Amino acid sequence: MNLAKFFTKAVISTLLLSSTSLLAAPEVNLYSARKEALIKPLLDQFTEKTGITVNLVTGKADALLTRLKSEGRNTPADVFLTTDAGRLHRAEEAKVLQPIQSESLNSSIPASYRDPEGYWFGLSLRARPIMYVKGKVDPKTLSTYEALAAPALKGKICIRSSNNIYNQSLVASMISVDGEVKTETWAKGLVGNMARPPKGGDRDQIKAAAAGQCDIAVANTYYFGKMLAGGDASQKAAAEKLAIFWPNQDGRGTHVNISGAGVTTHAKHKDNAVKLIEFLASEEAQAWYAQVNYEYPVREGVKPSKVLAEWGSFKADNLNLSQLGDLNSKAVMLMDRAGWK
Ligand code: FE
Repeated sequence: MNLAKFFTKAVISTLLLSSTSLLAAPEVNLYSARKEALIKPLLDQFTEKTGITVNLVTGKADALLTRLKSEGRNTPADVFLTTDAGRLHRAEEAKVLQPIQSESLNSSIPASYRDPEGYWFGLSLRARPIMYVKGKVDPKTLSTYEALAAPALKGKICIRSSNNIYNQSLVASMISVDGEVKTETWAKGLVGNMARPPKGGDRDQIKAAAAGQCDIAVANTYYFGKMLAGGDASQKAAAEKLAIFWPNQDGRGTHVNISGAGVTTHAKHKDNAVKLIEFLASEEAQAWYAQVNYEYPVREGVKPSKVLAEWGSFKADNLNLSQLGDLNSKAVMLMDRAGWK
């Protein structure tokens, strides 16, 4: 090639390069199992602060994990955000997450709410207490999850099915502290105390209790909060018949779980991915979770919303939530043996 041709080529490629770098605004791609309304306003704040555009894909938790797995190294996703430590553990096992070391994350999120190796980080806390029908149950007679198997509660309990990860995680937490043998005996007792074969979601347990089918329900608090404040009069009336009881306060504390996020194995924007998770763990983002979804901040020192404050403070189980994933398959088999449908 002659000199003139060489220079023309050089100039053209320089022009091309600079135009692509002008076009490539900083971005990060997020797969989120949280609905758009529950995450988008926070992402907008992040963009405003950092100039990094967030491309959001929402979907069902299990479908998004399947998608991540099948896309493999071609996945556009940089961050995977989902609910339940059990699911985050599944993502880690499926090798779609990579470990992250971030001083900011390690200092803002308590150790029990993040993976010890940095594969995932809890971003909001969800409590799963006992709820009881006011006037029908004396809260003084309630104490622990374990006590839900007591013969006195025969036919009085509503709880959803064992194929739900929330119950699997609850049982995993019990295996961790009580052992498998004791937990299986407990699960059999609980099944014997169920008012009806498990059906429906958490809200349906609250509704069934309100309708007189049972006296006690087990459900995540954000469902209770949404029923009370969500604008549906019949759901509000149902929830108002119940109150929250925080179990195991003299022992390990009430069972909690998280929503959380990790950086994907094949992230193309890893630095931005870490920045996004750090932002979601920041104090300003944490307060928003409690306001909008009746979840609890994962970091200490963030004021809970008015509704949460009304339910009173409670001691949360400080079991490292990676245990929930480790014990998930044992929990599933145990519930099956106990006849928990
Ligand atoms: Fe839920």
